[in-house]
Amino acid sequence: MTGHGTDDARPDNFIEQIIQKDNASGKFEGRVVTRFPPEPNGFLHIGHAKSICLNFGVAQRFGGACFLRMDDTNPLKESAEYVAAIQRDVRWLGFAWGERETHASDYFEQLYIFAEELIQRGRAFVCSLTLEEIRATRGTLTEPGTPSPYRDRSVEENLDLFRRMRAGEFPDGAHVLRAKIDMASPNINMRDPVLYRIRRAHHQRTGDAWCIYPMYDYTHCLSDYLEGITHSLCTLEFEDHRPLYDWVLDTLATPHHPQQIEFSRLNLEYTVLSKRMLNTLVADGHVDGWDDPRMPTIAGMRRRGVRPEALQEFCTRIGVTRSDGTVEMSSLERCIRDDLEAMPRALAVVNPLKVVLTNYPDDREEWFRAPNHPQVAALGERDVPFCGELFIERDDFVFEPPNKKYKRLSPGAEVRLRYGYIVRCDEVITGNDGEAVELRCSVDLESRAGGANAERKVKGVIHWVSARHGVAAELRLYDRLFTEPNPAALKDGRHFTEVLNPESLVIREGYVEPYLAGLAPGSRVQFERSGWFYLEPERATAARPVFNRIITLRDSWN
Ligand code: ATP
Ligand code: MG
Repeated sequence: MTGHGTDDARPDNFIEQIIQKDNASGKFEGRVVTRFPPEPNGFLHIGHAKSICLNFGVAQRFGGACFLRMDDTNPLKESAEYVAAIQRDVRWLGFAWGERETHASDYFEQLYIFAEELIQRGRAFVCSLTLEEIRATRGTLTEPGTPSPYRDRSVEENLDLFRRMRAGEFPDGAHVLRAKIDMASPNINMRDPVLYRIRRAHHQRTGDAWCIYPMYDYTHCLSDYLEGITHSLCTLEFEDHRPLYDWVLDTLATPHHPQQIEFSRLNLEYTVLSKRMLNTLVADGHVDGWDDPRMPTIAGMRRRGVRPEALQEFCTRIGVTRSDGTVEMSSLERCIRDDLEAMPRALAVVNPLKVVLTNYPDDREEWFRAPNHPQVAALGERDVPFCGELFIERDDFVFEPPNKKYKRLSPGAEVRLRYGYIVRCDEVITGNDGEAVELRCSVDLESRAGGANAERKVKGVIHWVSARHGVAAELRLYDRLFTEPNPAALKDGRHFTEVLNPESLVIREGYVEPYLAGLAPGSRVQFERSGWFYLEPERATAARPVFNRIITLRDSWN
């Protein structure tokens, strides 16, 4: 069965199946309202993209609506910059929330009124234990907790104390508001959880209006209720919180009760997807900000040159289930490559070695016609300039071929220049430490189309750029950020920052075909044999273009 109102042929995931059933039974009168609820304490990452695609995707599929809600209940860690970054990234991923932009802080007054109501109903009390004492009396998985000595305060006393907490009469930590549920519950979340704490912190939206802030578990279910959310989709670690979610709404007898449904979070190899760890990478200067192109953040991938279509496709391919697992980095990379496959191609030399063609006239130049894509004729053709001085890839030359199959250049060997002539390496000029600094080659001027030797076969074809026409460019070769598949949980006890890949960014001075210098910022192009590159708009200057390598042509890690 597939979702109605859509031509999307993908089969329903388990959440969509639940929604189909709810719609059939009339549980929410056929309404489907979801939300994506990030805490603005960092940038969004690829794991969030999964949740965004799910929440907005489900709403689209069923003709419903999705809220973008900032879950901003911890002012110490949140900021307006993070709010702006989150909005930018959700929009860039391809989703629109229209009027439905909310903030948990919009509901602080209503949440406060609900808290007084819980007190009135005898279901919440002001506890004057410290947070450490509360933790110490919570019990364990096998032993029940110990009730707070303040648990039986009267409704009047609780109301009075809670109002004075709000009024700022007590220092931080003096009291908290706790739900009165069951200290012997097998679920620790139900052992009189804290609902409010005193915290004198400036909030990025409410300023200094509040000195008490509600806890996540209390805020989330009520925000869902207030927005008329029908299906509250969250990751599996919240499964144990669902009884509390339901308890708050049941105890307040809200006229509408959203359904929390859990799915497994995305874990991805060779990176970390915890905001705490990502924050460490930024704060300790291991990367150049949250949007460093090596980060698994949406903003980082955007700067690197990944397109939103690739991330959407990745989220579709990984699907939504309840089974935990880790997705291979190569699956994400495959989506990125598939998405870039139709980009135009060009010649660029990443690590240049000079070649002088000894029998090619000094004052001569030619322009070779070349297709922009071997399969996509619609991308057209261009002319590539050629002359007697070229750059080739340093890796395309060796002094001693490793075996008979070696196809590229070595002393005495021949190769074909892409779109051009066959050349033979006659002489190698070396520097002080013996490395090649220039090759002197002779060119077979009859070896192009129309020449007597046009059909002559040589083993290899290499790419090149005319030294006279080529444009110097900064080529930023990005690679995986970590050398270990699971940096967040290393078996040998090393810290994740000890397995950063020292070659996650290698900067090269290369040469590109001249037409690439005039490319619009934001363009993507495949440099033959090197990978797909992105002309990052923020770095584009007329003098010297800067290209980010989005991804290599093939997986070199497996
Ligand atoms: P933290 O790393 O600080 O625990 P978080 O990753 O849970 O934070 P939130 O801003 O609370 O960040 O997440 C917003 C939403 O994105 C939540 O609904 C959460 O379940 C979802 N989400 C976060 N990480 C992932 C992930 N790796 N896979 C799928 N969904 C995720
Ligand atoms: Mg969270």
